[in-house]
Amino acid sequence: MPRKPDGDAASHEQKTDFEMVYPNIELYIDGHWRRAPGAPIINPADESVLGTVPHATKTDLDDALDAASRGFAVWRKTAPNARAQIILRTAALIRERVDDMATAMTLEQGKPLDQARLEILRGCDIIEWDATEGMRMYGRIIPAGPGLQHTVYRQPIGPVAAFSPWNFPMSSPARKVAGALSSGCSIILKASEETPAGALQLVRAFHDAGLPAGVLNLVFGDPAEISGYLVPHTTIRLITFTGSVPVGKHLAAMAGQHMKPAIMELGGHGPVIVCDDVDPVATAAASVTAKSRNAGQVCVAPTRFFIHESGYEKFASTFAEHASQLKVGNGMDPSTQLGPVANPRRIQAMERLVADATARGARVLAGGQRIGNRGYYYPLTVLADVPDDALAMNEEPFGPLALVNPVHDLDEAIAKANALPFGLAAYAFTHSSNNVHRLSKDVETGNLTINHFVASTAETPFGGVKDSGYGREGGTEGLSCYTVAKNVSHKFG
Ligand code: NAD
Repeated sequence: MPRKPDGDAASHEQKTDFEMVYPNIELYIDGHWRRAPGAPIINPADESVLGTVPHATKTDLDDALDAASRGFAVWRKTAPNARAQIILRTAALIRERVDDMATAMTLEQGKPLDQARLEILRGCDIIEWDATEGMRMYGRIIPAGPGLQHTVYRQPIGPVAAFSPWNFPMSSPARKVAGALSSGCSIILKASEETPAGALQLVRAFHDAGLPAGVLNLVFGDPAEISGYLVPHTTIRLITFTGSVPVGKHLAAMAGQHMKPAIMELGGHGPVIVCDDVDPVATAAASVTAKSRNAGQVCVAPTRFFIHESGYEKFASTFAEHASQLKVGNGMDPSTQLGPVANPRRIQAMERLVADATARGARVLAGGQRIGNRGYYYPLTVLADVPDDALAMNEEPFGPLALVNPVHDLDEAIAKANALPFGLAAYAFTHSSNNVHRLSKDVETGNLTINHFVASTAETPFGGVKDSGYGREGGTEGLSCYTVAKNVSHKFG
């Protein structure tokens, strides 16, 4: 039966100007909410304090591990259809709560309200797709000789430790939780300390939908301390992490040392190849919308634009014009198109990358300087003719920075797209089937998107190659990462 909203959960709203919208943040262990002291949560729009994120102790983590172990024993034996009903009910509750959740997300992360709503609804799409796909975890019967049968079962791998980032406070945890739960696993989620409300509200919806205790646990704290404790722990059977390449490599090494499989969704440096057979003006306008999403703090953000020389000047000037017209401001203002970046580290990164690129000869076509000094506002910045050795051409900017360069032909564009150690999302604009064929074969990326900018959906596998990571989230490939194949070879008769 669905639970009534938890007494603890319903009562922990704060009495501030944002009352009813920014929740008190608590840990969730074994079906109960727990308070603990911790660190302030900062609103990037005005640097005010929204609340406190609790830090889990070793005792909290041990309790979460015990709970996940017991939760797994219950959940793996729950019929797939019954699991799906609870997960689908969760998505329905989230859809009802989308406005309050979006407000909390904009307050803590900065993205404009309409983008926060879209993220939450997209999270629901993912949860719903995974829930139903979880009922189709088919095995296989492999033909064998008389009196023999080989049966392959797909079984849930076990309790998962998940680490989600600050840029998508709800949809990134939703992907991990929905993948694990739909496959029959339990999970301990360590969500971002900087944007904790998205995960908390997600977990609250699962609780209210009647998820058995222990199946889902939520902790916050010191990320290194928590991963250092959970990853090696014998209870944990799978690690899933979304974040930066250095942290991903560190966690993957730790997982490897303890023989744990891992899903690593790491950084990218999205190339966009614009061929000579498309309209450079329309493509530039679409590129501004895509680049400004979440102030560029997206692992699949389009960043390195390689434009066929015939349309280069038109593309660059249109891109700059549209970028300059974006309304920058507090995401709570419905007219805002570009919110603040989420934290001061992103401002520092933009300043460092722009200073380096201009010192090496790049032209600033739009933006280029922080706006004001209260709130973390940085305009969509367009740099043209950026040398290959500029830091921005090599490091993921993870912010509102677009780099626009001309290319002579498709060969040069593909070579430049492949030049970095990343390979997460790549984009191309062309109507030539020859070009599409060539791009599909030769661009080194986990996801290639042609003539639009939606790099991933609930039903498609998403993930990287090279330093961008391994494993997939989304689609049947994503769910299968949470399972193991067991072969039963049976001689009978
Ligand atoms: P960071 O490298 O310090 O942290 C990245 C993420 O990893 C954060 O969510 C952080 O809480 C977590 N983390 C850090 N150390 C950890 C540990 N030992 N164990 C577990 N989790 C740990 O950088 P940052 O300033 O927060 O973000 C900057 C960079 O991170 C960006 O430039 C971008 O490349 C990358 N990033 C990528 C994504 C993504 O979607 N792939 C999301 C967020 C950040």
